[in-house]
Amino acid sequence: MLEVKDLHVTVEGSEILKGLNLTVNPGEVHALMGPNGAGKSTLSAVIAGKDGYEVTSGEILFEGKNLLEMEIEERALAGILLGFQYPVEIPGVKNIYLLKAALNAQRVARGEEEIPAPEFMKLVREQLSFMKMDGSFLQRAVNEGFSGGEKKRNEILQMLVLQPKLAMLDEIDSGLDIDAMKVVAEGINSLRNADRAILMVTHYQRLLEHIVPDRVHVLVDGRIVKSGDKDLANELEARGYEWVLEESAA
Ligand code: ADP
Ligand code: MG
Repeated sequence: MLEVKDLHVTVEGSEILKGLNLTVNPGEVHALMGPNGAGKSTLSAVIAGKDGYEVTSGEILFEGKNLLEMEIEERALAGILLGFQYPVEIPGVKNIYLLKAALNAQRVARGEEEIPAPEFMKLVREQLSFMKMDGSFLQRAVNEGFSGGEKKRNEILQMLVLQPKLAMLDEIDSGLDIDAMKVVAEGINSLRNADRAILMVTHYQRLLEHIVPDRVHVLVDGRIVKSGDKDLANELEARGYEWVLEESAA
């Protein structure tokens, strides 16, 4: 589904990603871990198509297509969705209108009809209650005045409604209390299926107790220096990143 090959990315003149390789197959959940400033958010932003990143070499293939030639809208329509580390507030845009407009844009791009209003309301209400959010969140402006945890729930709500092929979550666990963490984890787990891939950026093993990843990668200084299964996350939790750095330098 996703193939990142020898990716080099520069931000404001300094090289952040320095030859990153990553392959994610449909059905898999990958966790991307690593110290602050390693380039985790940069990678997810470059895949999603955010401005301000210069890819100096390497490539990214999504379902075999050259992702770097696709506009940000085309990537979204192709099924890539990034849940932000810091979800933005959009005053003046009601949450429910954003959800409906995004879903309909996807349907129209697939050559389908727009979703009938009653069907949409049913779908959204189901997912809303799954995320343990009440109806008022639909009528409020997107993320405006939401608590940290509510913003993160709202990111997952968008995913449940839009059903992306590749769901990327950038530190979805930061700022969550234990109950919110469980709700968010249940939301993410319900997205797991054979056709979808999930890439989760996280610092902590805590989230991975709820969402057991197929692969765990350690990103250090712009490269993935170690990959393993879920046990690697436990080992990182116990030992930190220092030993991985030493191993990769050797
Ligand atoms: P991580 O998510 O792993 O903590 P980031 O990808 O956010 O790391 O950042 C990697 C490095 O790139 C950091 O040193 C950060 O300061 C730098 N960086 C990211 N975005 C910008 C930007 N817009 N301008 C300048 N430097 C940036
Ligand atoms: Mg980050």
